[in-house]
Amino acid sequence: MDREQVTIDEMKQIVESDPNVVNKKYILKMLEELKISKYPNEIELYPDVISFYTDYHVQVVYMKTTCKGGCGKVLWTNKPSTSQWRRSDWHGIYTGCYCDDCYNSESYPYRKDNYAESAMFEGETIYEEDY
Ligand SMILES: [Zn+2]
Repeated sequence: MDREQVTIDEMKQIVESDPNVVNKKYILKMLEELKISKYPNEIELYPDVISFYTDYHVQVVYMKTTCKGGCGKVLWTNKPSTSQWRRSDWHGIYTGCYCDDCYNSESYPYRKDNYAESAMFEGETIYEEDY
């Protein structure tokens, strides 16, 4: 990778100065803990990626992700596939990372209640067998 790495203090500055970061406290605490890491050579920090190894040599990667709902919030998240903000539609298909506010609002286009409604209009009626 050719991209330029940043130091832990620079990384803290980047996260600290971004007013849109949702989980700022958590990330800053994590960076503070990295300062006393036993494996300083295995920490890689880029303006949008935090990567390090735990004591059990498990790689942990956090990525700067913007909420897909368009609110501009920044979610520093581990792999989007395992993220706490990972959302899926009625069929369980991944739809992207949305913050809690967008997920619980009309900004989320894959709302499960919408699916139930459209299924009714499409004629998959549950009353049919009564007639
Ligand atoms: Zn959002």
